[in-house]
Amino acid sequence: MDDRVFRNAMGKFATGVTVITTEVDGESHGMTANAFMSVSLTPKLVLISIGEKARMLDKIQRSQKFVVNLLSEEQQEISMLFAGQLKEKREIEFDYIDGLPLIQNALANIVCDVYSTQVAGDHTLFIGEVKELVLKDGEPLTFFQGKYGGFIEKTPAV
Ligand code: FAD
Repeated sequence: MDDRVFRNAMGKFATGVTVITTEVDGESHGMTANAFMSVSLTPKLVLISIGEKARMLDKIQRSQKFVVNLLSEEQQEISMLFAGQLKEKREIEFDYIDGLPLIQNALANIVCDVYSTQVAGDHTLFIGEVKELVLKDGEPLTFFQGKYGGFIEKTPAV
């Protein structure tokens, strides 16, 4: 099967956008990701998928902790920054919980300890056990067919 066809098919699934953050040796690192899902209520588990070429992979393997920051619709630039899509470097001011960096003004900061790890092809799946949650009101940043968007509520069908 052609890689492009597979990518196009996956791009038909609209998602929110997250920035995964962690800290190793006193250095904060962030990476944009949309491969995120809720897994279990008891215990509270979530899943992320990190590519083998991403610097984030080694960082989470070392810290055994990560934060999933769910971006608001005002945070497209933050997403582009942490996806390496902006030319210029930026200083980012993080908030911190338990020594882990949080993206300020995200809709949710989901602070996790690594619960289990599974290599799957060229990605590694990390299941995280949720330890802390910070929530804010707002609308989500979304991603569909390689483009950013927002969220429009449909009126209920009658
Ligand atoms: P780098 O490429 O080194 O870092 C990414 C960028 O973040 C760099 O520009 C760096 O300067 C900046 N940065 C990092 N830390 C800081 C800091 N403390 N302060 C300021 N800037 C900082 N890849 C996946 O593996 N899984 C996914 O689910 C996934 N989903 C994606 C969804 C979207 C919408 C997009 C656009 C990309 C996605 N990617 C995903 C690709 C991934 O975001 C990029 O490949 C990314 O560049 C890999 O990051 P890295 O860990 O290698 O770090």
